[in-house]
Amino acid sequence: MKKILTLGLIFVFSLGILQAQKTYLHCGRLITSENKNVQSETTIVVEGNKIIDVLSGYQAPLESDVAIIDLKNQTVMPGLHDMHVHVEHQSSPKRYEEGFRLNEADVALKATTYCRKTLMAGFTSVRDLGGTGVNVSLGNAIAKGHIDGPRILTAEKSIATTGGHADPTNGLRNDLKGDPGPKEGVINSPEEARKAVRQRYKNGADCIKITATGGVLSVAKDGQGPQFTLEEVTAIVEAAKEYGYVTAAHAHGVEGMKRAVQAGITTIEHGTKMNEEIMALMIQKGTYYVPTISAGKYVEEKAKIPGFFPEVIVPKALEIGPLIQDTFGKAYKRGVNICFGTDAGVFPHGDNAKEFIYMEEAGMPAIEAIISATRTPAEVMGTIDKLGTITKGKLADIIAVPGDPTENIEVMTKVNFVMKDGVVYKSESK
Ligand SMILES: [Zn+2]
Repeated sequence: MKKILTLGLIFVFSLGILQAQKTYLHCGRLITSENKNVQSETTIVVEGNKIIDVLSGYQAPLESDVAIIDLKNQTVMPGLHDMHVHVEHQSSPKRYEEGFRLNEADVALKATTYCRKTLMAGFTSVRDLGGTGVNVSLGNAIAKGHIDGPRILTAEKSIATTGGHADPTNGLRNDLKGDPGPKEGVINSPEEARKAVRQRYKNGADCIKITATGGVLSVAKDGQGPQFTLEEVTAIVEAAKEYGYVTAAHAHGVEGMKRAVQAGITTIEHGTKMNEEIMALMIQKGTYYVPTISAGKYVEEKAKIPGFFPEVIVPKALEIGPLIQDTFGKAYKRGVNICFGTDAGVFPHGDNAKEFIYMEEAGMPAIEAIISATRTPAEVMGTIDKLGTITKGKLADIIAVPGDPTENIEVMTKVNFVMKDGVVYKSESK
């Protein structure tokens, strides 16, 4: 049930049944993300699913069938984007065993809860960087209005090399290992790399993800060595460009990260051991850094609980987890392009906004962190004509937080108003 305040009367209605023609949002403070300003006392006019005007002062409509939403005590901003999530799953001590028990329908139904939590936390758009393919169906179901959730752009299945991070049969018994290939997202040559990209296109992916180095949560010893040759990464990036795809590379260690940046990858995920040479190369190439500090902190904390992760993961989590926040601080100060992303799914979905606190702690001002989660992702993903800022003509993805995030960043974790595509999903503002 959705609530909207209409000229002093409260109408309670279900999604799609009663939709006022126009909605006026009275915003105490407004961050449009077009620039670093915070405006006071403005009115956003929404009609259908679009922002049709942004006016100064609290404007009262002349028409009768208009809803007014009082956000005078809030800071209003564009819907947040998380550029690194995994909507299909969530870490727990049962996570590995679930791979043997859950059918696709079980995964999908569980994930509907994760999608809803993400949206209610103010994240109206996410980029899913790897699952089984259920993520494509989830994105379609949300777009068609069957379930509540953020807009999803998905990589479908991450592309790995044999035994690498995201080889789906890592750690299994020999007779279960098989020999997964490009269809399953595992490649061992530039030819197979191209086929894997084309297969993702066929399966409905919106972007491409590779695991350029070892990773923490795979059942394998190495957490940071390179796992693709430069020729393989280059083949992936070139094939991806032909489909208009943005590319993302998971990377902890230096060599794999360097190859990915050299090959022209769009975003580096985690970037744990990023050094001065790589920062300079990223600035030169215009590569974006998606830090995922939240995931680093979470795996470090959980690795200390016996049995939470399989044994082979523990030393990797303890080594890599604590480094990311510091790397982020250095990269930000050095001038690397930053794009907000958390790796939600490694930690509970809905806690995505904690990343803002960690980013500010490491030296990024709140307003810049907010822009990195609104305008920047839309620029990176090519959706800036429709999303990412509060601008006349764009889609009405609008959220609000109580208080002023530039004075207290913690309010980003207390989103109390969520509108996506002109529809109010949460309205708890006072
Ligand atoms: Zn991830």
